[in-house]
Amino acid sequence: MGGIRIIKKNPLFTPEIDKLIIEGFLGNQRAIFFELRQEGFSRLEVVHRAAKLGLTKQFIQQCNENGVILTIRECLGCNKSFVSTGVHNRLCRGCQTRG
Ligand SMILES: [Zn+2]
Repeated sequence: MGGIRIIKKNPLFTPEIDKLIIEGFLGNQRAIFFELRQEGFSRLEVVHRAAKLGLTKQFIQQCNENGVILTIRECLGCNKSFVSTGVHNRLCRGCQTRG
């Protein structure tokens, strides 16, 4: 018999995965798409998740042009990893808009 094949269905975006996505989008995007596919995430899912985290192509490009160095920080509001544009930026988008 062929043994048991485990197919991961509906994998969840954990804080670790979020961090991977952020790091990947700031660095080697191809590698991160490949790595997450092993985890069961489609490219589209990763792109959507990245957008939710505030990582859009436009945003990254804008930061590159302005010489902004993006780092990963933990939000002071919700403790989630997010992309920070500097020391002044300590809240994720969600917490910022919530006030
Ligand atoms: Zn937050």
